[in-house]
Amino acid sequence: MYKIHAGRMAMAIVLLMASVASTHAQPAAKPRLAVLVIIDQFRHENLKKFGDLFVEDGFRRLMDGGAWMTDARYSHLHASTSPGHNVITSGMYAYKTGIIANSWYDRSWRKRRRSLVDPDSHLFGKDPSPDGRASTKELQGTTLADELRMATNFRGKAITISAKDYSAMISAGKIGTPYWYEASLGRFTSSSFFMDDLPPWVKQFNARKLPDKSFGRTWERLLPEAEYVKRVGIDDRVGEEDNRKSGTTFPHVTTGGLDAPGAAYYNALKHTPWSNDLELEFARQAIIEEQLGQDDVPDLLIISLSANDYVGHDYGPLSQEVMDMTLRTDRQLADFFGFLDQQVGRDKTLLILTADHGALPIPEQTAMKGIPAARVPEGPLTERVEQALDAAYGDDGWVEFIDKVGLYLNYEAIERHQLTRAEVEQLSAEALEAAPSILKAFTRTHIERGQLPDTNLARAAYHSFHPDKSGDVMPIATPYYMILDDEYSITTYGTTHGMPHDYDIHVPLLFYGPWIKPGYYRLPVDMADVTPTICELLGITMPATRDGQVLGNIIGD
Ligand SMILES: [Zn+2]
Repeated sequence: MYKIHAGRMAMAIVLLMASVASTHAQPAAKPRLAVLVIIDQFRHENLKKFGDLFVEDGFRRLMDGGAWMTDARYSHLHASTSPGHNVITSGMYAYKTGIIANSWYDRSWRKRRRSLVDPDSHLFGKDPSPDGRASTKELQGTTLADELRMATNFRGKAITISAKDYSAMISAGKIGTPYWYEASLGRFTSSSFFMDDLPPWVKQFNARKLPDKSFGRTWERLLPEAEYVKRVGIDDRVGEEDNRKSGTTFPHVTTGGLDAPGAAYYNALKHTPWSNDLELEFARQAIIEEQLGQDDVPDLLIISLSANDYVGHDYGPLSQEVMDMTLRTDRQLADFFGFLDQQVGRDKTLLILTADHGALPIPEQTAMKGIPAARVPEGPLTERVEQALDAAYGDDGWVEFIDKVGLYLNYEAIERHQLTRAEVEQLSAEALEAAPSILKAFTRTHIERGQLPDTNLARAAYHSFHPDKSGDVMPIATPYYMILDDEYSITTYGTTHGMPHDYDIHVPLLFYGPWIKPGYYRLPVDMADVTPTICELLGITMPATRDGQVLGNIIGD
């Protein structure tokens, strides 16, 4: 009797499945193509603030039809592009990968150096450079791209695209294939670390000279000005940056101050919406030429849209320009998603959308609203530490280097005065914490011994600390204060990011595809969970030392 019942059940299930099959296109068993879109500098609230102005099939495709995780955050100190991309695409933090920031002080070089420097590799079209970014040799551990390549016996492709060398390379890992728009050349390139030469289709793409076509182009608002004033305020505001010679108010005309396309123009182009068009056009070409998603072996495409970051740095995250970039990115993605539908198919494509970090509002604008905020030059911070150590131990040059990544003490001075590093670190941290602009300062010794309190900030410090690269004290700015950042030459204008505060670490995270259970998910998510989740969806091995875990609740049965 049980048998008969079971048989009927089985038949009923078969009939049910048949009826489902007749009304819905069955998804491919696994995604054929995973497309991970990383918007460089995109705050979580942008989707909410401007959501009603979006078109039907851009961001809204994922917001309305996908899994939208509303509390996705990074748990690291230096919320910037290199660590952000690294966490998304490897599922690990810098204490394992070594990518603690975009650049950091190097004791042996006695100066700041950038991530990914490799004198043994060169960029196509450029002379080799001893301090140029050229490979991911220093990146420890594997990435999503590496694992996909290995799991498919190198039949699956993993292509990454950006307007920043480091975003493309970090996302590619060791055996993915990165391409990026290189502003110093005005075209797309890659490194000899990843391939022997650029493939013919990339050379043909470059021969079209698409960047030149936007020379002198005017960037005007997409919608009437009143819409922008209503939501984010007036266009002309204190603290905005104009170092690309295109002004701080609409309309922005992009020439880089030149009469014809040249290096300054190719750089200025990165600060416009047309840079995203260029990247997405390159992505379309890559999908066609590399036949991504055309067979049963899964492929991976990672697109990092860099222009949003440059615009955010120049005008601040609350500017009309960032609002307009957001609306334009929405429309650009809608076009691109339409292309994916045609070329690969909605039932075969897994879409993931997120960001590498947020941004700090321009300090002068925050201060005008009555919230304490300021730019904090590095000089006075150094002075505080020098004075405290001079008073305690006698005159010396105690500070070798300081920036937002860390304070690096002069070890020779510590030896001369026969002190322990631990006590000098401690006094330095206390001197920094006495400044209103510094919320907290963690010492190397406390981190190495695991002696920090059990707090979110401490966890972030452990995640960002690498013994060979980090400083002796890690300062954390008071929220809304900005420790000046030489890297982008941001001194008196513009803004930056790189602190473990919500405006920098809270980003959108959305998954879309027939394998995803749609919904608005409020559970906290660590950004290290992205790679394990994609690996699970693709059915591939995960990076061996991953920190993150699979977001099982968003995956359908
Ligand atoms: Zn940035």
